[in-house]
Amino acid sequence: MGVPTVCPLCKHRMGDLQPSCPRCNGDLGALVHVVDAANRKFNEGLGWARQERWRLAAEAFSAALALNPTDEEAADFLDRVRTAGDRNRVVAGEI
Ligand SMILES: [Zn+2]
Repeated sequence: MGVPTVCPLCKHRMGDLQPSCPRCNGDLGALVHVVDAANRKFNEGLGWARQERWRLAAEAFSAALALNPTDEEAADFLDRVRTAGDRNRVVAGEI
């Protein structure tokens, strides 16, 4: 999944997110925690999607996206599980 690679303090481009910025030495620990949380939510969403639990998957991907708005993969999966969920309701006659 997409990980922010720009230091929010000095805008330095990093290869990978690190606990501190190699240029300005700023503490990026909190950002690392947020991205970790986003990754956990993203993986949770994948798990629900595999079980075709579309609403739970959409909630998890939404949370991942809220934590990491630059994550295009989470946005893409959120679209897909929402579409899948809508189709299921049509099939089940709920709409
Ligand atoms: Zn920096």
